[in-house]
Amino acid sequence: MARPFIAGNWKMFKSVADTIRYVAEFRALVADVHDVDIVIAPPFLALHSAAEAAQGSNIGVAAQTLHWEREGAFTGEVSGPMVREAGATFVIIGHSERRTLFGETDAAVNRKVMAAIAATLTPIVCVGETLDQRERNETFEVLDRQLKTGLDGLTGEQLAQLVVAYEPVWAIGTGRNATPAQAAEAHGHLRTRLRQWFGAPAADACRLLYGGSVKPDNIAELIRQSDVDGALVGGASLDPRNFAEIVYRSRQATV
Ligand code: PEP
Repeated sequence: MARPFIAGNWKMFKSVADTIRYVAEFRALVADVHDVDIVIAPPFLALHSAAEAAQGSNIGVAAQTLHWEREGAFTGEVSGPMVREAGATFVIIGHSERRTLFGETDAAVNRKVMAAIAATLTPIVCVGETLDQRERNETFEVLDRQLKTGLDGLTGEQLAQLVVAYEPVWAIGTGRNATPAQAAEAHGHLRTRLRQWFGAPAADACRLLYGGSVKPDNIAELIRQSDVDGALVGGASLDPRNFAEIVYRSRQATV
């Protein structure tokens, strides 16, 4: 089992002051955890404070999206180099909320992935089917389309550094997580496709996270599934003790 990768997506929650308080408490809670990759994704405005507060710790910082251009007349947008300068080293791309609420397409995801890599940010690329798509037996087809277009043009070397999050839309923020068997099936499919497209060494190095109503109570069972290398956590990452508990349990489950 690879070293677990646990990322917390805060969405549009927490001010700069909240972020500084959170990181001070959280870094103390996970200070002894050296065998898990830990990342938090605060809103843009709190990125710099989060990175400063996390300096010298085992906590990485991610942005929740980025624009694909370096700079320009794109009111309201933030670029990869800006995110990197603020101290983030990761960026979430293609989250289902970005796709559904802000019209982000697979082609846009691809441009953002390329821009992230150019800015030396590690992309955390989200894919996942809606409930309708699952009920119509289209899950694999949807995942293939999102992944194929989203990762188009990547080299095997670049894929090996990447993080992909399988987040079934019906499980995000609903309290209804995928069953371990459903997660294992989807992750197995993603790994197989990545091996076909990029070769086994690159595909096996790429970390595959599960996301969707992950909590302290279900992380162990989910992360024990083959091809589940970690988790992208939304709601349960907002409380530092809860999120630390998820980190501990992911570690215990994988030793
Ligand atoms: C997410 O936002 O990526 C997510 C998985 O949310 P939640 O854990 O709240 O379902």
